[in-house]
Amino acid sequence: MSASFPRASSPDAPSPESRSEGAVAALHRRAAALNAAFEAADASARLAGLLADEAGQAVFTTSFGLEDQVLTHLIATLRLPVRFATLDTGRLFPEVYALWAQTEARYGVVIAPFHPRHDAIEGFVRQNGVNAFYGSREARRTCCAIRKVEPLGRALADADLWIAGLRADQSAARGGVRFAEADAARKLIKVNPLLDWSREQALAFAREHDVPLNPLHAQGFVSIGCQPCTRAIAPGEPERAGRWWWEDDAARECGLHVGADGGLSRASPAVAEAQA
Ligand code: SF4
Repeated sequence: MSASFPRASSPDAPSPESRSEGAVAALHRRAAALNAAFEAADASARLAGLLADEAGQAVFTTSFGLEDQVLTHLIATLRLPVRFATLDTGRLFPEVYALWAQTEARYGVVIAPFHPRHDAIEGFVRQNGVNAFYGSREARRTCCAIRKVEPLGRALADADLWIAGLRADQSAARGGVRFAEADAARKLIKVNPLLDWSREQALAFAREHDVPLNPLHAQGFVSIGCQPCTRAIAPGEPERAGRWWWEDDAARECGLHVGADGGLSRASPAVAEAQA
């Protein structure tokens, strides 16, 4: 049964702000309940459990990295009702496109592409140059907002549940990641089923289950994003050291998982601007 609200003319009618606050509070309650129910479970049980819990539309966004390939394997083999999506920035490695096709064939799934808006990216490149991201942090963030964050908004437009592949030990900035988090800006619950996995654990799982992986991982490319913004790392370097390596901010992120407070997991003001 749907909830009934007092009529707008009623003196008791909640304001739009209070309705919004109520919706955000409900998201936080639901995230807390999911953490209580599933955070201590294993990854398969987390996925199966939360999707059995009247999750609504679930969307998994993959960039075909190690963790995302493990999640694809779990979601596909468990036959969970999840929609697959990926952000095709137009600057990905050729190996990513090959793995995309290989993954669809292996698991019999369709991984829907979300591209940048052509008018936005054409204008940005015309004004700033094709490799503007090397010139300033502002240009880099704008490029990420156009190529990644705005398309992500469309990929998640009707989602109630967003499945992502974050692990807490990928970087210090990701250390506080929870299993379920309220994304108030996008009005959904974000879940990180591999939050407590190590990279070694994910690699061992992939080997055991013959999960297709990007061959660049074996060449030192640990965290793989766009080709011009990713380099291989040396043994002992932090996992995300190869992303935007010319910037000096150790907590650098592309904006997909960054909140309004600068922390991870909620949509940033830049997101809202890019989506407007
Ligand atoms: S990672 Fe680099 S090329 Fe890709 S969207 Fe961000 S700045 Fe642009």
